[in-house]
Amino acid sequence: MLIAANELRKDYLLDRWVVIATQRKKRPTDFVKSAEKRQEGTCAFCPGNENMTPPAVLVYLPQNGSIRKDKDKNGLRPKNWLIRVVPNLYPAFSPPQKEETKIEKSDFTVQRATGHHEVLVESPLHNEHLGVARISQAVHVVNAYIDRLRDLSSRPYVKYVSIFRNHGLEAGASLSHTHTQLIATPCIPKTVEEELKASEGAFKREKKCVFCEIIEKESHSARFIWKNNDFTIFAPWASVHPFEFWLFPLEHQCCLLDLSQAQVKSLAEALRVSLGGLNSILNDPPYNFGFHQMTTEACESYHWHLEVYPRLSIWAGFEKSTGMFINVVSPEDAAKHLREAMLGEEKKI
Ligand SMILES: [Zn+2]
Ligand SMILES: [Zn+2]
Ligand SMILES: [Zn+2]
Repeated sequence: MLIAANELRKDYLLDRWVVIATQRKKRPTDFVKSAEKRQEGTCAFCPGNENMTPPAVLVYLPQNGSIRKDKDKNGLRPKNWLIRVVPNLYPAFSPPQKEETKIEKSDFTVQRATGHHEVLVESPLHNEHLGVARISQAVHVVNAYIDRLRDLSSRPYVKYVSIFRNHGLEAGASLSHTHTQLIATPCIPKTVEEELKASEGAFKREKKCVFCEIIEKESHSARFIWKNNDFTIFAPWASVHPFEFWLFPLEHQCCLLDLSQAQVKSLAEALRVSLGGLNSILNDPPYNFGFHQMTTEACESYHWHLEVYPRLSIWAGFEKSTGMFINVVSPEDAAKHLREAMLGEEKKI
């Protein structure tokens, strides 16, 4: 019997290589685990427990059929919020202080971890995560991403704002109440920087956006999954994770601040459909997602996108020690299953 060789694929832009090892064909059901059980006490993010977090930097409050945007002040913490954004109690990055403690000199490179670390509570309902959310609530979530991105990215010491989500215990979510995190950093993180450099190089050579070209090619490929008027979703050529997918705006935009209100609604629907599809074929799997975007530079060459990484396999010695990956589900197979699941979800919204 002839055994097909595994392929070693390179990412579109990054110097990152993945072995697509599909000799043992994997179906979605091979990854489904029984639902995680966690013991939890009082939830700090549920309405009524606002005093368990630092004061909110942004709250959405319903007012006469529209939204009033405010923050917790004068010791008052409204309980009828729809969205609530609070500083992380254990921040990885923190704002500059008036009286700065000195960073110890070292033989090696070091700087202060200046920035912000926030938690965006996506709904007053504990379990209303984006894969099951009402579209009206998902619209609030996207609008709140935009509000916080605008504020944080305007600060002079902030070079990048990472908006990411950990879903499920195995994906690093220590609290199960539906939430997204924002971390503002004093530098552009490595993966984004690498994408930025590669896309700037391509733009200089070819006078066009390399991401626009990838979108065009993938919309006719075996990796295409789903699209609506404004967004397209596909499994990337060199997917690192089983069932990984990426979402791009069809229009050339460098960050979420470029979205029109109609596109915000369209993005809310795309999030609901895609994460709902993932949820339905893999029985609510743990996953991470992160936006890649540029708020300050390279608007002509960089094209924002969302990368979604289901956490179905454990990175072991090879991945940890080499930065090279093995994926047991080809993106073509993943796309086939996800396509069906997302079409099913689309009918539910
Ligand atoms: Zn809760
Ligand atoms: Zn583009
Ligand atoms: Zn990216």
